[in-house]
Amino acid sequence: MMKIIDGKAISEKVLEECRLDVEKLKEEGVKPGLAVVLVGNDPASKAYVGSKARTCIKLGLHSLKIELPESTTQEDLLEVIEQLNHDSDIHGILVQSPPPNHIDESAVVLAIDPAKDVDGFHPENVAKLALEDPSGFVPCTPLGCQRLLAEHSIETNGANVVIVGRSMIVGKPMALLLMGKGPVGNATVTVAHSRTKDLEGICKGADILIAAVGRPNFLGKEHVKEGAVVIDVGINRVEDSSLSKGYRLVGDVDFEAVAESCRAITPVPGGVGPMTIAMLISNTIKACRNSLTS
Ligand code: NAP
Repeated sequence: MMKIIDGKAISEKVLEECRLDVEKLKEEGVKPGLAVVLVGNDPASKAYVGSKARTCIKLGLHSLKIELPESTTQEDLLEVIEQLNHDSDIHGILVQSPPPNHIDESAVVLAIDPAKDVDGFHPENVAKLALEDPSGFVPCTPLGCQRLLAEHSIETNGANVVIVGRSMIVGKPMALLLMGKGPVGNATVTVAHSRTKDLEGICKGADILIAAVGRPNFLGKEHVKEGAVVIDVGINRVEDSSLSKGYRLVGDVDFEAVAESCRAITPVPGGVGPMTIAMLISNTIKACRNSLTS
């Protein structure tokens, strides 16, 4: 029988673990702190930043929200990051993506102290993931997907995993995690992208299909093997005039068409999305704990 993978419920479990970790750290005399920097006025980014800050506060972390005007120069932003790198109350730093066009995002990533890079985007952390060095930070979304698989006891050992999408935020780190030798790894991973030939045939061979494309309902029944597990990372807005906000969120997978023949599937919303923020908090706690021993 098909199972819905309830990311909301699993994220609450992760956040409860985080809350207990924060309590322990406070007993040891340290309060984990996360700084979230937003440049500009993008409404979706504002909403994400607000939700991250509220989650921190709810769990007892120190939350610093820095909102900078659209006109902020690259130099000024790097200066803010430098200050945060030296702020002992801050263990994690995140610059909300996407920044305005005049900001060089890779320079921003490079400026963040790798020990505070809770997004896991700094080359030092990317290398640690590739080297399977557990001291690094893994990007939150793939880490959240891996946890969803673990919570549902979905066997990855020897499984054929197909990931559609090769971004540095989702596809590539997801591949590295699942091909790694650790628990919830040892999969045979194929990464597909816009130049892939016979996407349908490749996807159809997947025991676990992970979609990170950014196109609404892009993968349908013809892409999914009967009994496969489907993890839908996509978050896409599609117009819906029947809703007061004028849109609804859908994934990269046509849920209605696929769900019945799957073994398990994540819904959108309520699947991978809530896990991303939970893993961000978890990474911040890890950074705080690391700071005690460094
Ligand atoms: P991205 O950087 O735009 O990458 C999209 C990937 O999809 C690229 O590798 C691209 O291939 C591939 N692609 C595009 N068209 C394709 C096609 N026709 N056939 C096969 N592959 C195709 O996107 P992203 O940042 O990884 O995000 C992907 C989705 O996940 C988006 O909907 C985003 O909103 C969502 N997301 C969700 C969360 C969450 O918390 N749930 C977090 C991050 C992202 P090329 O490389 O060849 O262009």
